[in-house]
Amino acid sequence: MAEHEEEEEEVEFFRDLLRFRTVSAEGPTGVYRDCAEWLASRIKELIPLASTKLVEAVEKKPVLVVEVRGEDPSLDAVLLHSHYDVVPAMEEHWDVDPWAAVEKDGRIYGRGTQDMKSVCAQYVLSMARAYRAALNRAGGDAAKVSHLFKRSVWLTFTPDEEIGSQDGMGAFVRDGHFDRIIGKVCIALDEGMANDAQDPACTVFYGERMPMWVLVKCEGPTGHGSRFIQNTAVEKLLTMANKAFTLRREQEALLGMTGSGCKHCEAKKLGDVLTINLTALQAGVSTDGGKSFSLNVIPTSATAGFDIRVPVTMPIKDVRKMLDDWCCEAGMSWMFDPRYGHDDRDIHAVWSFDESDELWATFKNATEKAGLKISREVFPVASDSRFLRVLGIPALGFSPMARTPILLHDHNEYLERSVFLEGIAAYDAIIPALANFEAST
Ligand SMILES: [Zn+2]
Repeated sequence: MAEHEEEEEEVEFFRDLLRFRTVSAEGPTGVYRDCAEWLASRIKELIPLASTKLVEAVEKKPVLVVEVRGEDPSLDAVLLHSHYDVVPAMEEHWDVDPWAAVEKDGRIYGRGTQDMKSVCAQYVLSMARAYRAALNRAGGDAAKVSHLFKRSVWLTFTPDEEIGSQDGMGAFVRDGHFDRIIGKVCIALDEGMANDAQDPACTVFYGERMPMWVLVKCEGPTGHGSRFIQNTAVEKLLTMANKAFTLRREQEALLGMTGSGCKHCEAKKLGDVLTINLTALQAGVSTDGGKSFSLNVIPTSATAGFDIRVPVTMPIKDVRKMLDDWCCEAGMSWMFDPRYGHDDRDIHAVWSFDESDELWATFKNATEKAGLKISREVFPVASDSRFLRVLGIPALGFSPMARTPILLHDHNEYLERSVFLEGIAAYDAIIPALANFEAST
């Protein structure tokens, strides 16, 4: 196949994937299954060596698991992980149909172009290139192609990442499917973020802040709104909320700063500080379901919801203790929002390694060979990697999108065609390097 024809087909694969409207909330209506089945059948066609399996740890939310067996399957495998669900698109704010994969002026537009269907496609297309190269070496005789690399390569495509992963990667790991099907993995790759620097730089994330979604509820006496009722529910709640705002200001002030007088430390980024935001607030006496309120009655209860992101340098138990103290002082209590589940809350998701780590060096050298400079950071938001890191698997968040504005979850999300193709080339260097990796000891 001529090179431009190959590229044309690769871009078409990506655009076909974008056209599946895999919005997390709509997935169980059937589009998750359609998308996962389509991916499985295209993978079988492009990489005939691959075996595929749809696992429904939770009904109607299939995880696609793909194995490309290595020369020595007893070696710890390489995992290429991605999620195929996307966030909704507010179509009225888009210049193009977010579900049509429109290509215009060298840009491919669509929900999921950056987060993260580009990576789903690049993994598959790079593996397909490796298969075609092996087939060529075997003189076109498919029977002679028994493996691509020394180690097995697994690909996982999960749903529900955009709504907390509990029924996606969470269930896949929690219910033992991961251990039973995949087993031992030496390194995993997962999503990162675009990098808008002018030089071809990519950010690699080795850990992430732990999300804590917390509800605080307090009770107090009622009475007429004209009197000095003491210790009202709202008053107590606001005392606690003010402590949260103070902490928020303190943490914000740390951004861009380095440690005390440390010349070598990097300036603190969003992933290095704690954020706490009051994201829900509920109080008031209403007889019509909240459309209007009785303003002359003191409400007996008030509830606040907080989004807290804890950096890897801060033990989760310290944050729990802080919330206990804040609430105890005001005579109220807090809890994790049960809708998000709270497994593993006390385990921080980070791969701590130094520059001499051989797998890290292998990844870094391969990426640089592909012409990308990399910088290391802590991911400011949560990703499926946290479930892998809890299993002790080193996971790197990496999406090869250099010279690209960060548009994940934004209107008019796009990726340049050339950046998409460069990304496949990056994996052409990275996947073989990792899958043929031999430890020196
Ligand atoms: Zn994502």
